[in-house]
Amino acid sequence: MAETKLGTRCVQAGYHPENGEPRQIPIIQSTTFKYATSSDMGKLFDLEADGYFYSRLQNPTNDHVAAKIAALEGGTAAMLTSSGQAATFYAIFNIASCGDHVVSSASIYGGSYNLFAVTMKRMGIEFTFVDPNCSEEELSAAFRPNTKAVFGETIANPALTVLDIEKFARAAHAHGVPLIIDNTFATPINCRPFEWGADIVTHSTTKYMDGHGGAVGGCIVDSGKFDWTKYPDKFPGLCTPDESYHGVTYTERFGLAGAYITKATAQLMRDFGSVQSPQSAYYLNLGLESLHVRVKRHCENAQKVAEFLQQHEKIAWVQYCGLPGDKYYELGQKYLPNGSCGVVSFGVKGGRAAAEAFMGRLKIAAIETHVADARTCCLHPASSTHRQMNAQELLAAGVSEDLVRYSCGLEDADDLVADIDQALSGKD
Ligand SMILES: *Cc1c(COP(=O)(O)O)cnc(C)c1O
Repeated sequence: MAETKLGTRCVQAGYHPENGEPRQIPIIQSTTFKYATSSDMGKLFDLEADGYFYSRLQNPTNDHVAAKIAALEGGTAAMLTSSGQAATFYAIFNIASCGDHVVSSASIYGGSYNLFAVTMKRMGIEFTFVDPNCSEEELSAAFRPNTKAVFGETIANPALTVLDIEKFARAAHAHGVPLIIDNTFATPINCRPFEWGADIVTHSTTKYMDGHGGAVGGCIVDSGKFDWTKYPDKFPGLCTPDESYHGVTYTERFGLAGAYITKATAQLMRDFGSVQSPQSAYYLNLGLESLHVRVKRHCENAQKVAEFLQQHEKIAWVQYCGLPGDKYYELGQKYLPNGSCGVVSFGVKGGRAAAEAFMGRLKIAAIETHVADARTCCLHPASSTHRQMNAQELLAAGVSEDLVRYSCGLEDADDLVADIDQALSGKD
């Protein structure tokens, strides 16, 4: 069959039942799988044969759903993880270890920032955070001989910075390392980072992909394009034998298309076990089936909300790359021509106190630590997700103290605008 379009892939990719098999992806609710002989099973443990033996490593339900996301991103292999955090951690830890260094955009999700700046630092991996709008020279200066990856977010949560993916890809490749992109907010419907030079993509599937606030999850997709074998000294884990699998060398056995994800599954899932439950993977797939339809509506609602906010006298500023004149309008037109996401960030005149009072008066939008849900929700990051940052770090992350993150759901835009209007008018 010819390459299908994204909408068709959302509905159909990843699972192709044979004659008489279930039409919907079966939930294989089984921890383990039966074999006739010990030697059959031994081949699986040596990665010599393909198959399932224990759901901490792999489960058929998860693999069908991962294959759908790989098809949406245009990658060669993918794996589901228990959360977006697990995906981010695995994506980097698969190629960087104690003593290594990573360059990251400073404008990223607060949870990723904590993971990098605190927890992974404790593991001996150092991060340099760069201004996403820095020059090529400044970006280049952040690299060290032990740099193993570059990390950024297509549209940063919650700053809504649009990353110049090509600029980051050029710098990464000039230094012989891959570019890892968290594509959670854009989703492959609005941007496919591999088309712009990224090598690995991560997702919090908890957000638009699930889309209904039903299941926490994550995903890692490999483009299969980064040639690890050109830098065997930098990436010994992929290019030299793994003693925990009788000397398998991932790049030799699985090729560039499969080495990275196979290693992440065989080592990181085996040892850390941040696996997604098949039940959650099933819910995720239901979300994916309508992703292309929902993302469009989220973006339409956000555009209307952003336009309303922009002309309102009580609003200090609005950030949404769909607004002409927005700082990221041009980058948005380049990387996200069909729409960006459903999240609008803005400041209410009167600062932190005014922002919190405004949020308290909203009736449709609920205050939640969540985004990208079918139901509209909002959050004050400086007092929640980004609470650990000091004023300077908040500034670098693009999160001002008055910033309200407003995530447009799938409701009628007129009702969202009316709700914001009454909350801004300030009468309880
Ligand atoms: C939510 C989020 C994460 C973390 O995902 P969880 O599923 O909550 O672990 C990572 N990146 C971005 C951009 C997010 O919005």
